[in-house]
Amino acid sequence: MKMYNSMLLTLCSDEFTLCSRGVSQSSWVRFSVEAIIFHSSYELNQFFPLIESAGQHPHGRDKRWIIQLFQRGFQVPDNFASYYQIYKWMMAKEKEFPSIMKVESIGKTYERMEQYIAKIGEPGVDKPIIWIDSGIHGREWISVTTGVNIIDKLLNGYKTKDPQVLELLKNFDWYILPVANPDGYIFTHYRGGRLWRKTRTNYGNGMYGADPNRNWDYKWCETGSSRLPNMSSYCGLKPWSEKCVENMKNTLLSIKSRLRVYLTIHSYGQFLFVPYAWSANSYPQDYRQLLSAGQAAAAAMRKSSGAIYQVWQSSRLYIISDIVMAHVLDEASGSSMDWVKATLGTKYVFGLELRPASAENNLGFIVSRNQIKPVAQEVWEGLKVMAENAKTNDVVFG
Ligand SMILES: [Zn+2]
Repeated sequence: MKMYNSMLLTLCSDEFTLCSRGVSQSSWVRFSVEAIIFHSSYELNQFFPLIESAGQHPHGRDKRWIIQLFQRGFQVPDNFASYYQIYKWMMAKEKEFPSIMKVESIGKTYERMEQYIAKIGEPGVDKPIIWIDSGIHGREWISVTTGVNIIDKLLNGYKTKDPQVLELLKNFDWYILPVANPDGYIFTHYRGGRLWRKTRTNYGNGMYGADPNRNWDYKWCETGSSRLPNMSSYCGLKPWSEKCVENMKNTLLSIKSRLRVYLTIHSYGQFLFVPYAWSANSYPQDYRQLLSAGQAAAAAMRKSSGAIYQVWQSSRLYIISDIVMAHVLDEASGSSMDWVKATLGTKYVFGLELRPASAENNLGFIVSRNQIKPVAQEVWEGLKVMAENAKTNDVVFG
C-alpha cells in the first residue's frame, strides 16, 4: 500500500485527492496507471522504466493488465469503461472530429475530479440543444455506457455520412455528460463499492455522500428523500450542496434559452418518465404532449429490440405495486428532471430507467456486457424520435 501511494505521489500531481484513500493494492495500481496514462503520453517502453525508477514493480495480473492496456488501448465504448478510460476516449474523438466535437470540463467534483462534457454538432448560431446526462448514480453502469455510445453513434454517423445523423447534427447541438457523478462512479470501479449510488461528500461520522438526484432546488427534500446522511436517498445539507450537481445546474442555466430536450439516463426498470416526480398530483401544463412524445419514443425503442419501456409520470410509479416501488427510488423530489422542467421551462424533459425490467436485491444494476450494444441501440432509436418531435413541435413553454 505504502509503495503504491509513493508511486502516486511521485507520478500524480497533487490534484488527486483520492490518492490517500485506497482499498486494495491492485485497484490502486489500476487507478493510478490509468491516471498517469490519461495525463501523459507515455509509450509502453517508457512506462515501466518510469514507474520502476519510482520504486514500483507491478507484477502478475497487474503487469499483464498494464501491457494489455498499452497494446489494445482502452476498450471504449464496448466495455464498462472506467472514468479515465472514458475521458481518454473522448479526448481522442475530439482530435478525430475537431470540426464537430469539443470536450470541456463543466467543473470539478468534491474529490476534485473533472466533469467532462462532449459538445457535438455542426457549427451554427444559437442552435437548440439536446442535453443527455448519464451516471448521476454511481452504480448505474449501463447508463454510462449508453451515454458513451450515443456520442459514438453521432460521430460514426457523421463519418459515414448517414443522412439522418447529418440532419441531427445540423438541427441541434448535443451536450452529453456521460459520467455525471465521477466520485460515485470511481468509487464503484476502484474502491470496493460496486453498488454505491451517491456522491462521496464527507458528512462526518463515517457517512459519505448525498443523492445527486435529490439535491436539485425544486421541492427539495419534500417527498421520497431522506434528511439522514447515512441513507441512500439523502437530499444533502441544502440544495446544490453536491458539487457535481451545482456544476450541472450552472451549465444548464447558461444554455437555458437554447435547451430543447433534457434526457437523464438511469437504471433500472425499463421506464420512460415524464415530469413531475415529486408529486403524483402535479403536472406540467403540457403533460399530455410530453406523454405522447414519450410514448412515440418508447414505441421506437420497442420496435428496435422488443424491449418494452413503460411510459409514466414518474411519481405515479409509486402507486402501481410494491415491486415497482422498489425499483424507482430514484424518482422523488429534488430531481434533475423536475428542476429542469419547473425552473428552466424546457419543453421536452424525460428520464429513462434502462434494462432490466426487474431484478431482486439491487442486482439489476449489474448488467452483462452483451447488453451494452442493444440497450444503446434501443435508446438511440427512441432519441431520434424525441429529436424529431423537438424539431417539429416548436412550441414555446410558458
Ligand atoms: Zn438512478
